[in-house]
Amino acid sequence: MTIANAKLLICPFCKGEKPVIQLMSGNTIGATQRSDLKTDYPMLRKPSPVQRCPHCGKYFFTYAVECKEASFQSFDKGDLSYQEIADALQQLTQQQIEKQDEINLRLLFIQTYNTTYQLESAKEQPTPTDAERLLFREQVERLLEIWETEPLVRAEFLREAGRFDECVDILDKMQVDEPFKLNIAHQIRTFAEQHSTTVFIIYGSRNDFV
Ligand SMILES: [Zn+2]
Repeated sequence: MTIANAKLLICPFCKGEKPVIQLMSGNTIGATQRSDLKTDYPMLRKPSPVQRCPHCGKYFFTYAVECKEASFQSFDKGDLSYQEIADALQQLTQQQIEKQDEINLRLLFIQTYNTTYQLESAKEQPTPTDAERLLFREQVERLLEIWETEPLVRAEFLREAGRFDECVDILDKMQVDEPFKLNIAHQIRTFAEQHSTTVFIIYGSRNDFV
């Protein structure tokens, strides 16, 4: 992985600059993917799709803002904490946003919540409050409503929403031939039958990535 000079994202609210990592080259060696579709490419580090402006504290979509080249490097991806993505969700859903942006935003919230609260491989994790659990459930429900995706992915998010019977129902009706997908379907089913919403690693060597 070769680092280029940082990209300077221009905040659309205060015009302040935020430097983030920019690569000259990279590769997908060592990639890991979770059942909630979060991926980790240690040799292909990319900025988070939603960023917090360090100057005014507002949030914006990384790919929707003006940017400049910096004269220095940065390793910062601008990843958001659970509280930050919860704040970003509140701010960005108050304004008019495109459907794809909404999918990206809610998916990022779901993945960040999962990282914080329900990772199968995590040894110890805090317990979410009832309000946080409700907010999570609302995001998964909304994602299922607006996102047309393949049955296997839908089954996984039905499981994460706690709709276990519907999840198993989709898996029952699915025609899966590829061993890789068959294995994922089997794991989703096992968790659904245990009424578990924890996310798990689909592939990759790292069991601890967040
Ligand atoms: Zn700003």
